[in-house]
Amino acid sequence: MELEELLKEYNRIYENGLVPITRCRACGYKFHMPRTRCPRCGSTNLEVIGYGEGTIYSYTIIERGLPTKTIVVLVDFDGAKVKANYVGDLNALRIGARVRVVRRDGNIYFTNY
Ligand SMILES: [Zn+2]
Repeated sequence: MELEELLKEYNRIYENGLVPITRCRACGYKFHMPRTRCPRCGSTNLEVIGYGEGTIYSYTIIERGLPTKTIVVLVDFDGAKVKANYVGDLNALRIGARVRVVRRDGNIYFTNY
């Protein structure tokens, strides 16, 4: 897949409120980067998949230095990790919890509902 084509596919998936994950058809490796070659095996046989749900892998709560309390979560999508702000219920925030992708004002966030 050419870079331009890959970027169009990433944007199309973002516009549908999903997170784009590139999957290598040769070795199965998944990553969240618009790259034309697999970083593991070098294959150019790639496809882009849109994910609407993932699992919290890690998170951090930032209470100082920003105008408002900010929660950053690292979400696992079948092995590919993506970082974004969490806007869901604080009581549901835990490693291993399922989260959904939401798009607001052109940005991607994760939430528990
Ligand atoms: Zn590969």
